[in-house]
Amino acid sequence: MERVGIMGGTFDPVHYGHLVTAEEARCEFRLEKVIFVPAGQPPHKTTSQISDPKHRYAMTRMAITTNPYFQISSLEMERGGISYAIDTIRQVTGLYPSAKIYFITGADAVLEILNWKNVEELLSLCYFIAATRPGYRLEGLKENIFYMEVPALAISSSEIRRRVREGKPIKYLLPEAVEDYINKHGLYRH
Ligand code: NAP
Repeated sequence: MERVGIMGGTFDPVHYGHLVTAEEARCEFRLEKVIFVPAGQPPHKTTSQISDPKHRYAMTRMAITTNPYFQISSLEMERGGISYAIDTIRQVTGLYPSAKIYFITGADAVLEILNWKNVEELLSLCYFIAATRPGYRLEGLKENIFYMEVPALAISSSEIRRRVREGKPIKYLLPEAVEDYINKHGLYRH
């Protein structure tokens, strides 16, 4: 049975922690591909808190080019409105009706899953891979939620944004093309 990973996140900006997470999940769960789906409008954030989806999509597209198993989808951005995972997973199961779907995202986000829209249906349609940095063990996860330690997740988007704002270097935290994009478009300076 085909296994497809859906990498859900705001990716503001995408960094090596995300890329390592996706690759680790691909290998550990034997996924044929991992599709990055930048959230259009994450349910728990306001538009003023996040960068324009077109920037986040462009940076993510650049970041994944060197991995033949990685793809990107604009389905959440195109759908418009709030990006509920249930709508994304329904769309994905329509595209891959016989595949096992794994939704990969940060453990902090997964810890809130019981508050997500249509959570029972969501958990019946896909597995979850909750990625966290070592030392943050998650207890009592539901049956189809897997936990994965990713040392590279010491890198975080908020830390990168803070460093740009403070004029500190972000080299080696994310792909060079993404760093160039941030500089060219003046992202995160304020
Ligand atoms: P977030 O709350 O900004 O992130 C929580 C933590 O998880 C942060 O440390 C974040 O690090 C990390 N993280 C996020 N995505 C990750 C990924 N793919 N791999 C590894 N670490 C990741 O989370 P978010 O990005 O806004 O949301 C995560 C996903 O859950 C999105 O697809 C969002 O649409 C979905 N979501 C759905 C619902 C719902 O359906 N009701 C509610 C909440 C979230 P970084 O900041 O470094 O990324």
